[in-house]
Amino acid sequence: MTPPQLSLVIPIFNEEETIPELDRRLKQLLGGVPEVGDAWEVVFVDDGSRDRSRELLIGLTTREPRYKLVAFSRNFGHQMAITAGVDRASGDAVVVMDADLQDPPEVVVEMFARFREGYDVVYAVRRKRHGETWFKKLTAALFYRFMRTMTGVDIPVDTGDFRLMSRPVVAVMRALREHHRFVRGLVAWVGFRQVAVHYDREARFAGETKYPLKRMIRFALDAITSFSVVPLRMATWLGVMAGLIAVGTGIWAAVEKLLSGTVPGWTTLMVAVAFGSSAQLLMTGVLGEYVGRIYEEIKRRPLYIVEREVNLTPSDARPENVDSAR
Ligand code: UDP
Ligand code: MG
Repeated sequence: MTPPQLSLVIPIFNEEETIPELDRRLKQLLGGVPEVGDAWEVVFVDDGSRDRSRELLIGLTTREPRYKLVAFSRNFGHQMAITAGVDRASGDAVVVMDADLQDPPEVVVEMFARFREGYDVVYAVRRKRHGETWFKKLTAALFYRFMRTMTGVDIPVDTGDFRLMSRPVVAVMRALREHHRFVRGLVAWVGFRQVAVHYDREARFAGETKYPLKRMIRFALDAITSFSVVPLRMATWLGVMAGLIAVGTGIWAAVEKLLSGTVPGWTTLMVAVAFGSSAQLLMTGVLGEYVGRIYEEIKRRPLYIVEREVNLTPSDARPENVDSAR
């Protein structure tokens, strides 16, 4: 069988309500992508769903051989699910897409057209976001702008993981095996010819977001620490500031003593101690974040564990697929 031209990678975590509609929209889309014809595949990654998602997906794969399934042994998170899908996708162009239909499948047609024009990465920029809380929109807007100034890597603003990657980009992505993965940052870092398409983000088809605040914070921390050492450098600046304040306080205390002969104020002492210890605590925390990550990386554990695969053959796991070789 010739390799497919177009692969879709779809991470799934507890999406039983959406899967039938997703299936319908995919069939509708995939019949009609110009120049692809029947040469497409969909790699579903079941990220340890606790509802009937896996059952439904297995049902779909038995009826449609171009639907493939990788099922994790437990929940490894969105970014790992994307990674496992990209590791197995064998198309010339690989599109990562959410299952909840917030990323409208129809945009894939436009992405594929840009790919045919010679672009290696086509990322989808959100113009509008329907059905999301103002809090999510605000934190997302701040986050993407903050990331840009903080990391030096030119990560496009308002862009999620909805994007197309060419085969060469996929090969590089497969070689990047870090644990705290911020996939969209990695793709930006890889380079090649990148271009944006714009779309309106829909509301979730059903169910609720799998990214509660706690997960968003972890996600932001992974993003910043994997692309930036600025937080580490903050130690230097805080140190300099604390030093200057200490010198100022010292001079003031000396002058006070000379002029009025009083014992230097208790308040001064308290402020100095408080400032010094808070700066130290903060920086210990920052160091901890990085040291923790070093620890995770040197353990060299596989990024995810596959419990079951359907419709996938060993040829789909090309040599660059490190995790199945290890
Ligand atoms: N997802 C996943 N593993 C997780 C959390 C989410 O595979 O641990 C999937 C989820 O099923 C969806 C996509 O990742 O297809 C994006 O998740 P969600 O829609 O909840 O995120 P949001 O759009 O709210 O940022
Ligand atoms: Mg969503």
